[in-house]
Amino acid sequence: MQRHLSHMTWTEIRDLDKESGVVVLPIGSLEQHGAHLTINTDTYFAERFLELALEQLPDSIKVWCLPVMPITNSREHEGFAGSFWLSASTMMNVLRDIGASIARSGFRRLLLWNCHGGNIPLLDLMAREIRADTGLAVFTCFPPAALRDPVETNEREGTFGIHANDWETSVMMALAPQQVRADKLTAEYPDFAPAHLKLEGSAANVAWLTRDLSDSGVLGDATLSTPERGWQRLTPLVPKWVDMLSEISRFEFAS
Ligand SMILES: [Zn+2]
Repeated sequence: MQRHLSHMTWTEIRDLDKESGVVVLPIGSLEQHGAHLTINTDTYFAERFLELALEQLPDSIKVWCLPVMPITNSREHEGFAGSFWLSASTMMNVLRDIGASIARSGFRRLLLWNCHGGNIPLLDLMAREIRADTGLAVFTCFPPAALRDPVETNEREGTFGIHANDWETSVMMALAPQQVRADKLTAEYPDFAPAHLKLEGSAANVAWLTRDLSDSGVLGDATLSTPERGWQRLTPLVPKWVDMLSEISRFEFAS
């Protein structure tokens, strides 16, 4: 089945049976990923992870894809060359308009399929706004979080390994080794240990920019990375994504 809306005509899209089914907007970023990963890493993941899931998705499950959004809210990487961003207010307006046009095309559900961690708070907020403005059922997903990391790693990587780290580097080594500069693998953790403050997800958090925490742009240890560790992470994730997409494509609130 044709899943790419951009390859269809307007009448084909008008005539789709949209009672069940979800439009997926893949969301990446174009931002520094250390000296060892290319700046399109999150954009590549957003597109490729979705492809991997679609390859296993039964034809009866209606999932239609929009082209990827490649430049998003990467403001935390400002100051590193090759980091491009939309400000929060610009991105909110872009999402509002995309959501409105999806609703006006007659679709009922929208999934924000996002592979850039920095977008998560903004997407959660905008999902609710679009829901309220348009009546669409709106879903957010950060695909790597569909499963607890099955690969053994050290405690610091578990806490601070969040960018161009073991996970991202291993998965890129598995999927697209030509996008990894193997001679530039870096480990850098922030010197950050206040008693009551965390970087995110705690009672008290500090707003940070990458340059506050890291000289290399890396937060984590890419020297742990191997293609095998990448496949160990990816292989069990793909069926989780298939199940998630299936459920979302048919979701209705009870009342
Ligand atoms: Zn990334």
